[in-house]
Order: sequence, then C-alpha cells, then structure tokens
Amino acid sequence: MIELKGIVREYRNGDVVTPALTGIDLCIGKGEFAAVMGASGSGKTTLLHIIGCMDAPTSGIYRLDGEHLERASEKRLSAIRGQKISFVFQHFALLEDCTAAENVALPLLRQRMSGAERRAKVLAALEQVGIAGLARRKPSQLSGGQKQRTAIARAIVCGADILLADEPTGALDSRTGAEIMGVFQELNRMGKTIVIITHDRQVASCANRLIEMQDGRIIHDEAI
Ligand code: ADP
Ligand code: MG
Repeated sequence: MIELKGIVREYRNGDVVTPALTGIDLCIGKGEFAAVMGASGSGKTTLLHIIGCMDAPTSGIYRLDGEHLERASEKRLSAIRGQKISFVFQHFALLEDCTAAENVALPLLRQRMSGAERRAKVLAALEQVGIAGLARRKPSQLSGGQKQRTAIARAIVCGADILLADEPTGALDSRTGAEIMGVFQELNRMGKTIVIITHDRQVASCANRLIEMQDGRIIHDEAI
C-alpha cells in the first residue's frame, strides 16, 4: 500500500544543498509493523514525513493505495493526514490545558458529527489504549506512558489505518517504553500498519521488519 520509488529529498538553504534522502525504494504492505533505525541525520524523520504526507519529495514516486502523491495538492495531502495516516511523536504533543478526552477529540473537530458520536469515538479510542478511566485528567496529571497512550488514542480516533511514530519511546524509561510497544503490537494485531523510528534495538525487536538507514539510503531491510 505504501510504495516509494527513487525518492530523493534535498533541503536547500541559499546555495547549500543538504541531501537528506538520496534514492529510497521501499514498499510497506498493509498490516506490516516496520521499525526504522539509523544514526542521527541518516534521514529517518524525513522519510517518515514523506510517507505521512507532511513533506513532499524533491523527486521520485510515492504511491499510497495506488494513488500518486508526489505532486498532490496540499488540500489532498491534508485530507490524507488524519483519514489514512496519523503520527505519534516522541514528546506526545498534547495540549496542556485540555483533558485527555479533549486532546483525543481534536482531530474529530474537523468532521461533522454529533457530540454524542464524538464522545463515543473518543471513549472507544481511550479504551483501546487502556486509559478510559483517565479521560478527565490533564496531561500534567498523567505519567509519560499515559501521555503517550493519549497521543496514540488521538492518532487512531479518526480510524487511520497507518500509524507513523518518530521515537515514540524516546522520552520514556525502558519498562514504560515496552508497555507502549505492547500497545502498538496490539493495534498491529488488529490490522493497523505501523512504522516506527527508534534508536533502541529492544524497541525495534517488537516490530516484524527492520529497516536500517545510512546517509539517506536504506542499507538493510529484513523480516525479523
Ligand atoms: P534523522 O531523523 O535520521 O536524524 P533527518 O531526516 O532529520 O534525520 O535529517 C536528514 C538530513 O537532513 C540531516 O543531514 C539533516 O541535517 C538534514 N535536514 C533535516 N531537516 C532539514 C531542514 N529543515 N533544513 C535543512 N536540512 C535539514
Ligand atoms: Mg529524526
């Protein structure tokens, strides 16, 4: 479903060109759980942003479910973000003044639906990540693991089938990180396609595919 061919991404600052991706060929099928590893600066985040329609390649082909996206309009890309693809970040990116339930509801505010329907979807998402009882707490009253569960609930609440996570356990201790990987594994068992970036081999071992990057290329890709 995710197909990248000859993807190049260069950043230009005046006369300085930084090649972040130098030719990526990659297919990720529905229901896969892939981990991306590689040294800092190897292009992992850039790759995830292109897959997630947050950034466009300088050249190359990107097809998602057969649809060409390399030159899609911002409007189309924005529709895909949220509907088909959602992100989870290292530092959770929650609104501090909103409760867990309000944070999870945010992506639904763009859609027309009744308050009751919205509350039901939020509760179902919070239940799926095991924190339905914490719906009224604000982020300051949640542990790191509970914050990341809230962020994962926000990522799944619109029904996106693809979850992309940039070092989702990077701000957590190893035990909590393992719990969060358990949440991703459960979502993967229920059919979500998941791509995570990590520096931690233990975290990567929870996936079923390991992709290693170096200098803007994939140097290794195997089922694990
Ligand atoms: P990683 O996530 O593996 O650390 P990145 O994808 O963030 O790598 O970065 C890949 C390369 O692109 C690095 O050399 C980085 O400095 C460069 N880069 C990333 N974002 C920008 C940007 N906005 N402007 C210029 N260079 C960038
Ligand atoms: Mg990065």
